[in-house]
Amino acid sequence: MDYQFYDTYSNTKKIFTPLDSSNVRMYVCGPTVYDYAHVGNARPVIVFDIVYRMLQLKYGADHVTYVRNITDVDDKIIEASNSLNEDISSLTKRTINYFHDDASYVGALEPNVEPRATDHIPEMIDIIEKLIEKNHAYEADGNVLFAVNTFDKYGNLSGKSLEDLIAGSRVEVADYKKNPADFILWKPSKAHEPGWDSPWGKGRPGWHIECSAMSEKFLGQSFDIHGGGQDLTFPHHENEIAQSEACNNKKFANFWMHNGFLSIEGEKMSKSLGNFITINDLKNSYQGEVIRFNMMLTHYRQPLNWTEKSLQDSKKTLDKWYKILDKHDHPLTRKNELISDKILNALADDVNTPQAIAELHQLYKVASDGDIKALESFYNSCQFLGILTSDYNSWSSWKSKTNDIDENLINKLIEKRNEARNAKDFAEADRIRDELLDMDVILEDRDNKTTWKLK
Ligand code: AMP
Ligand code: ZN
Repeated sequence: MDYQFYDTYSNTKKIFTPLDSSNVRMYVCGPTVYDYAHVGNARPVIVFDIVYRMLQLKYGADHVTYVRNITDVDDKIIEASNSLNEDISSLTKRTINYFHDDASYVGALEPNVEPRATDHIPEMIDIIEKLIEKNHAYEADGNVLFAVNTFDKYGNLSGKSLEDLIAGSRVEVADYKKNPADFILWKPSKAHEPGWDSPWGKGRPGWHIECSAMSEKFLGQSFDIHGGGQDLTFPHHENEIAQSEACNNKKFANFWMHNGFLSIEGEKMSKSLGNFITINDLKNSYQGEVIRFNMMLTHYRQPLNWTEKSLQDSKKTLDKWYKILDKHDHPLTRKNELISDKILNALADDVNTPQAIAELHQLYKVASDGDIKALESFYNSCQFLGILTSDYNSWSSWKSKTNDIDENLINKLIEKRNEARNAKDFAEADRIRDELLDMDVILEDRDNKTTWKLK
């Protein structure tokens, strides 16, 4: 069965043929780590986890390399570190742990490699030096910039001409740029900012170069699939292509796959609108499989409207499906050959998860009538998609964390801690923070306000 994926670069659905079927290679842009991941960030995690599972199924688990990076140097990280008064390394370590917990909560398999930007500065410097040597980049005021007019294909991914980009002011104008659309490869670090020695002085990389460097290191100069959210098409992915292809003179990624955006109850998610939902928030009320299933109900390229109603419906469906595991005596075993062809066909057609779920509903009906073959197929198809991975008892005895917590007590302890801090009794303030931590409550102090979250 051939897989077909929609390639953003050519704007067509194409049959997927790997460059080397003994090592199929996929790179996905991972999180920038400074806070909890929101439910939008979970979309690429789940979408590309399904693509990863499909590749493993077809080519064998040992013949697929999935790389998802971690951006651990970035303006947003510096800002968060300043406002929280927390060291950058402690902040990134803490939030990487959150991200790992969240990704595993929604049933995502671990990628084969999870490189961190700050571990690959020499590789980035190496590419920048090559780009300067080939006249694709230039130094100006301690910055190194990529000269976009030296790369003919610039704009091909996002479908934008240089004129459009400049006219639409999607680029930052600066005196030191030869062309307003030129983008930063390296910039000087201000005092108290992270910085590395380089041929251009102490500085730090621009955002885009890290993915060119890490994908090349772990997947080679050309690889099969590059993925990420739709917002990354421009400038991030456009710039990655320019850097890598100008440097290596080779086609960078064969397929560009982008997930659509997620909104909440019909509105763009934002902190100011107060509709910002983290995976960590959802953990209080829903099992990870509910989040995963709810995400799969919408095709990955479509906009996804995340609603409480649809989460509740997803939970009801899974509650119903789990019951079937309890109602029969037949031992169910995990066998890839038993995954339904109809479901695989749906996935093979550009990861059509809503169609796959429609097929699961049909299979469930037949299985409920006592058809053991259908039950085995239903069970294995669900397993493959990362649902029904628990047993009926653990599923039905799962309790929402919010039912167990005593918000009054938490607020009282926060008040006591604030009093202790005002009285400069930091030992007592720390003791209260630890007491709350024992109750799985994490405090966050920001802008003179203390908020709490469950671990
Ligand atoms: P970031 O941590 O902001 O670099 O984003 C990590 C990943 O989440 C990227 O692939 C983004 O494109 C993706 N992403 C961010 N917000 C959303 C959203 N609202 N819906 C879907 N994907 C998103
Ligand atoms: Zn990237």
